[in-house]
Amino acid sequence: MARAAILYFEFRDFPEGAVAAVEEALLQAVRSQRYILSEKVTAFEQEFATALGAAHAIGVGNGYDALLLALKAIGAGPGDEVIVPANTFIATANAVAQAGCVPVLVEPDAHTYNLTAATAAKAITARSKAILPVHLYGQACEMGALVELATTQNLYLIEDFAQAHGATYGGKAVGTFGNVNATSFYPTKNLGALGDAGAVVTNNATIAAFIRQYHNYGETAKYHNQLIGINSRLDVLQAAVLQVKLAFLQQATQERQRLAQLYLSELQEVGEVVLPFTAPGCSHVFHVFNIRSSHRDALRAHLLALGIHTAIHYPVPVHLQPAYSYLGYRPGDFPVAEELAATSLSLPLFPGLREDEQLAIIEAVKKYFR
Ligand SMILES: *Cc1c(COP(=O)(O)O)cnc(C)c1O
Repeated sequence: MARAAILYFEFRDFPEGAVAAVEEALLQAVRSQRYILSEKVTAFEQEFATALGAAHAIGVGNGYDALLLALKAIGAGPGDEVIVPANTFIATANAVAQAGCVPVLVEPDAHTYNLTAATAAKAITARSKAILPVHLYGQACEMGALVELATTQNLYLIEDFAQAHGATYGGKAVGTFGNVNATSFYPTKNLGALGDAGAVVTNNATIAAFIRQYHNYGETAKYHNQLIGINSRLDVLQAAVLQVKLAFLQQATQERQRLAQLYLSELQEVGEVVLPFTAPGCSHVFHVFNIRSSHRDALRAHLLALGIHTAIHYPVPVHLQPAYSYLGYRPGDFPVAEELAATSLSLPLFPGLREDEQLAIIEAVKKYFR
């Protein structure tokens, strides 16, 4: 009998019983009849901050808003430059541009695919305001050197850890190194809600107080406004879902790492496939399992013909997106980022992926190169 198609991502009941627990929490939240900024939101914020080892977490509407709020909190605006990797999900650059700043793009490291202090340092000018590293695919950036660079250059550091819940650098959770940090709980993220959601994380009480006001219209008390804020609140139903899923995050992360390990051992020396490299001290929570091949498109078609769906993160680097043509970058400006866009392929990896499915994926990749 033919095997069912293997999708790039599926929501499975992992660990078993998680779905029922989420449904029960949702029902309770519905019945509470408290639908905006209830104690559910506060409870999740506290548990999320505690899980990271951070002083403050503020739930917001989505990951993009979290980035925008972080930029507002450091006072970034017109005239300021913010250093961003050229290979990231577009939200990172969009938040910088929408804050009125100039995104200054830099090359990722050729092995970790992450922004490093070495490439960021070259992009610093008198207008630089902040460095915004992204823990891409779930691997922690080398934060030691980035913290040192930001400190010595008097720049703010903002982490985008939307893909890296639970990842650590030197044993310390990402999302706790920068002055103010942003994450997303988009449904397919490692910690995902059942709709849009995000959070801002900081150890700085002044920044936390600013975000708390600014994300809720700038209110100090109901109908009293100190700032011209926005409305980007974490939805109560999503907070209820996230509270349950946070308790399962460590198990889900271990499952992702176990699946990644099998790919890593089985796909060694298969054709000219380049496997993910994890740098010393940096942990990887495998939001994305990226392989690279100069035959990427043909390999992808071969897998699809066998019913195996894959994804590309990301086909077009930020500097070559039409939306960013005003920055004046050209093809060839960031060879590493361009090479990544041309060769990257993401294989299915999600908690609950079955062994027979993963072995079929591995066999199909091997078959292509045979
Ligand atoms: C998902 C993601 C975001 C944006 O999150 P949304 O909740 O979709 O707004 C930002 N940065 C990175 C790196 C992401 O992967």
